[in-house]
Parts: sequence; structure tokens; C-alpha cells
Amino acid sequence: MKEKINKSDQEWKDILSKESYEVTRKAGTERPFTGKYWDNFDNGTYKCICCGEPLFKSETKFDAGCGWPSFYEAQDKDSIDELPDHSLSRERTEIRCSKCDAHLGHVFDDGPNPTGLRYCVNSAAIDFESS
Ligand SMILES: [Zn+2]
Repeated sequence: MKEKINKSDQEWKDILSKESYEVTRKAGTERPFTGKYWDNFDNGTYKCICCGEPLFKSETKFDAGCGWPSFYEAQDKDSIDELPDHSLSRERTEIRCSKCDAHLGHVFDDGPNPTGLRYCVNSAAIDFESS
């Protein structure tokens, strides 16, 4: 279990951009091909925009053609919480930062080897640090 970060809605609003706030705190989705990172393939680490927790490594990023940054593996499974999402007619699995509960996107089971997973993440929910 990670130690949780608890901030009020107003505190998040103060530190996040409008778009990042909408995505991470209101479970929003940015429009495909509009985000900062869907076509970024530099080496580095993707961190939670809210709390800085490292979430994904560039080595696991792949071009899923969907317009959102996609990864086949989390850097550390403990950093990401998976929750059932019934908001659309098809069943999905929501992914959140386990440290601060930021909504990141969804994970699907149609990804490439070696995991077969596709973590589909909003650019607005992550911050890239090149290495
Ligand atoms: Zn976080």
C-alpha cells in the first residue's frame, strides 16, 4: 500500500491546468491525437501529473494508433489501481494513480507482447521526464 495523498478539490484546481484537472479529478478524456505525448517516443519516465509518482517507462510505450499514449506495462504494478468502470455499455477497467487517485485512463487486454495489455493514458494525466 502506498501512502495516499489527500488534497481538496480546490487544492487540485490550484496546482493543475484546467485540462489536467478535468481528466485526473473528473475522469475526463482528452480528444485523441490532441495530447502532448501520444507521439512522443523519447527515452524517459512518465509520471503522475498530480503527485509525481513514476508510472510508465518509455521502453514500454508503443504506437497503438488510438491517439493516446499507450503502454504495455506499468513501471510498478503497485503504482496503479485498477477499478471496474461501467460508465459505457461495454465493461472497461479504469486506471488510477494509487498514490493520489488521479484518473489516468483505461487498461485493455488487446495490447502487444509480452503482457498483452494496453494501458491507454491521457497525456493530461502524465508528465514526461526525459532521461
Ligand atoms: Zn498521482
